[in-house]
Amino acid sequence: MLDRPQNALVDPYGRTIDYVRLSVTDRCDFRCRYCMPRDIKFLPKPDILTLEELERLGSTLIGLGIRKIRITGGEPLVRRDIIRLFRGLGERLGAGLEELTLTTNASQLPHFASDLYGAGVRRINISLDSLDADNFARIARPGNFGAVMAGIEAAREAGLKVKINMVALRGVNDHEIPDMVRWCGAKGLDLSLIEIMPIGAVDGQRSAWYLPLPRVKQALEKTFTLTPSNHATAGPSRYFDINETGGRIGFITPLSEKFCENCNRIRITCTGVLYMCLGQNDKVDLRQALRCDKTGAALKAAIRGAIEKKPEAHDFETAAAVGRPAVARHMNVTGG
Ligand code: SAM
Ligand code: SF4
Repeated sequence: MLDRPQNALVDPYGRTIDYVRLSVTDRCDFRCRYCMPRDIKFLPKPDILTLEELERLGSTLIGLGIRKIRITGGEPLVRRDIIRLFRGLGERLGAGLEELTLTTNASQLPHFASDLYGAGVRRINISLDSLDADNFARIARPGNFGAVMAGIEAAREAGLKVKINMVALRGVNDHEIPDMVRWCGAKGLDLSLIEIMPIGAVDGQRSAWYLPLPRVKQALEKTFTLTPSNHATAGPSRYFDINETGGRIGFITPLSEKFCENCNRIRITCTGVLYMCLGQNDKVDLRQALRCDKTGAALKAAIRGAIEKKPEAHDFETAAAVGRPAVARHMNVTGG
């Protein structure tokens, strides 16, 4: 066990914050219909933190007690030279940082899987909402199903442990869930199902796609035997072992079974805005401190100040009930 700084980050509700999701770009090669509108406008490039700034930010966070960093986006692997950031942060593994990981749509993994392993990444999350090429294209508009499949194989061959994340969408991919359970089981991949969240406006009426996962679990239990698992990660999934496949399934239920009381994380956008909660507007802009104060004191003070104002919980259930986004910014900006 690593020593924790005496003044670790603790929020007003007594929750220790040791996990950061760091977005490195809002850009993406897909246009998933539940995540962003098809004609989304991306942020101006000069606003985006450089790789050096991102590394300095990561280093400062580790110094303040952050143990796990998940690199996200947008699609993190479309950012040019992104492996440099993984290599830089990877040097802190075992020296304050316990885990460096990423969430990706896998399209670029055929190019980067072994470099990620070389940088110290061991487990990654891959988003995969369908195993049917046509349905995949309808969801990701169109994405690149072939590259995603090749990316998953490349990750496994490189030695990365893969967890598949599937957003459960009523009337869109719910009929595929049992097949996804079997496919992941056969490949030895963990699977997490995720409830759709009302974040940022999209083209369709997103509330129509909301599927409460307790209902999905009940349906799965007609075919599979699910036993509560001891497996736990720093994330919000509740895991069950699946007797029939030997695999594991997690349920991420921000709407139907809120998990805010155990929240241990914050999110930082690629422009350096720290959001204390995915579903609230409370934020602290770190970019000024990062760019103008070379001593790092202002940056540390700004991060500590943000943690002191972390909200207790999100209000997704209210927003979902009225069918409007809880927050205006999109998921590719905040980082999933
Ligand atoms: N592009 C990468 C990917 O798709 O894995 C990383 C960024 S993406 C924003 C991170 C995660 O957020 C993905 O698993 C995606 O499915 C999920 N996501 C995006 N919009 C969502 C929404 N409105 N509700 C629930 N999950 C969402
Ligand atoms: Fe891109 Fe990920 Fe959003 Fe899909 S979910 S559009 S892959 S950022």
